[in-house]
Amino acid sequence: MPIYATEVLTNPAPAAVCVSRDNFLILQIMMAATALYAFPSLRHLPGWNTGGLAVAALLHVAATEPLFYAAHRGFHGAHLFARYHALHHSNKVPTPFTAGFATPLEHLVLGLLMALPLAGACAAGLGSVGLAFAYVLSFDFLRAMGHCNVELFPGGLFRSLPFLRYLIYTPTYHTIHHTGKKANFCLFMPLFDRLGGTLDPESWELQRKNRAGMDEAPDFVFLAHVVDVMQSMHVPFVMRTFASTPFAVRAFLLPLWPIALLFMFMVWAWSKTFIISYYHLRGKLHQIWAVPRYGFHYFLPFAKDGINDQIELAILRAERMGVKVVSLAALNKNEALNGGGTLFVNKHPDLRVRVVHGNTLTAAVILNEIPKGTTEVFMTGATSKLGRAIALYLCRKKIRVMMMTLSTERFQKIQKEAAAEDQQYLVQVTKFQSAEQCKTWIVGKWLSPREQRWASPGTHFHQFVVPPILGFRRDCTYGKLAAMRLPKDARGLGSCEFSLERGVVHACHAGGVVHFLEGYAHHEVGAIDVDRIDVVWEAALKHGIRPV
Ligand SMILES: [Zn+2]
Ligand SMILES: [Zn+2]
Repeated sequence: MPIYATEVLTNPAPAAVCVSRDNFLILQIMMAATALYAFPSLRHLPGWNTGGLAVAALLHVAATEPLFYAAHRGFHGAHLFARYHALHHSNKVPTPFTAGFATPLEHLVLGLLMALPLAGACAAGLGSVGLAFAYVLSFDFLRAMGHCNVELFPGGLFRSLPFLRYLIYTPTYHTIHHTGKKANFCLFMPLFDRLGGTLDPESWELQRKNRAGMDEAPDFVFLAHVVDVMQSMHVPFVMRTFASTPFAVRAFLLPLWPIALLFMFMVWAWSKTFIISYYHLRGKLHQIWAVPRYGFHYFLPFAKDGINDQIELAILRAERMGVKVVSLAALNKNEALNGGGTLFVNKHPDLRVRVVHGNTLTAAVILNEIPKGTTEVFMTGATSKLGRAIALYLCRKKIRVMMMTLSTERFQKIQKEAAAEDQQYLVQVTKFQSAEQCKTWIVGKWLSPREQRWASPGTHFHQFVVPPILGFRRDCTYGKLAAMRLPKDARGLGSCEFSLERGVVHACHAGGVVHFLEGYAHHEVGAIDVDRIDVVWEAALKHGIRPV
């Protein structure tokens, strides 16, 4: 669990500060170049010398560690802290970059301390190029690790091997220093805090708790899938920064595309469902899992069974973990694929985990976007799961629904579901011409530019079609896919759900969250229960889930 992930995302460092984050690299290069210039023999070092490693390790423990400790405590004196070290501590929430975020004087001190073991090994005639790289890179890695804000060490490690507590610090250990500023001053070895009497005794208990937070089982799972090869790079474990902004195709993705393509074949062949991200709501862990399949797989007839197997495996895994609700995203609940989740519920009648498509709330979001006073709408995809529910709901409100479908049989089936007095409000249309005068279009099926031309100027296109239609008409407006904003107390939202703003999720995801928060006992699979549209909408608002 990121120890303070929420704050780091809401309090980004000012831009001017970011610029100076890598300047120390230039300083270190200058120091190394000076050394090479002053001691020409350094230019002819061998590739590797094991004796040099021993000398450097000895000097690191005997000199670099204690000297860093002393210097760090010195920098916490009132005078030096205010003028120098306060900058490093201004990042209350450390990130790996915080490791390199300090004033030039501190970097000079750190650079010299880092050079010391290398200089010692060279002076003993045991220096090597390999040692220089190994030591500097390990040093840098450990600094970044200590500031990474994610607990990496297994929870039980320091209990079973207590001596390790004095040899290696942890991200939790250094975060305690960043927040409290009174303990845990060491470079990498807590031994020196112990010797100096500045060790926070809670460090390992907290480390264990932070780690346990990462290992805890979720209560809610949103089971997504990858959209396409480009989007597959929009996940925190590939690029945290990129994943923290809404997805859009960017130039820097292009050279990475072949690698992502290769990755696609690998996950298709070998992978099972994996975790993409998570957040906390009302003290409960919510995770987003991805089925290792991409959007186009869902359109390959021979891939259908494999996809259902993957979803079933994920649901059964969730069942074993004690997850309460699994919400199926996007194409994972496709009617043609598994009847909107019905397949799994029928196959496993004793499931304790609730399987939810969340589309009742999707319908509610679309319906609530239709302005009051609307008397007539035109709808494509009208006989789909969402189309049917929207049509039946609207005809109850005495709104005339022109349902675009060539199948009279499917139309009549839906019409018969409406109460006798409402049936007159459902009208079958077979041509786009019929919609020329209607300014409210609800689009559930892809529309070509030619088809969009039939809309009169000023028409608004509401949509529930995936992928969304392209806005060809400048004189019309286009709605976005139904989405809702998670409650304000959602914590740790480090990444964006596809192209949505951070904290906003697709309506079906929100529908699953409502299902969990309300503790509904039923599975929400198959056809949408029109009577429940208002119920879930009210429940969502009650829990602070808001329309966007
Ligand atoms: Zn620090
Ligand atoms: Zn400090």
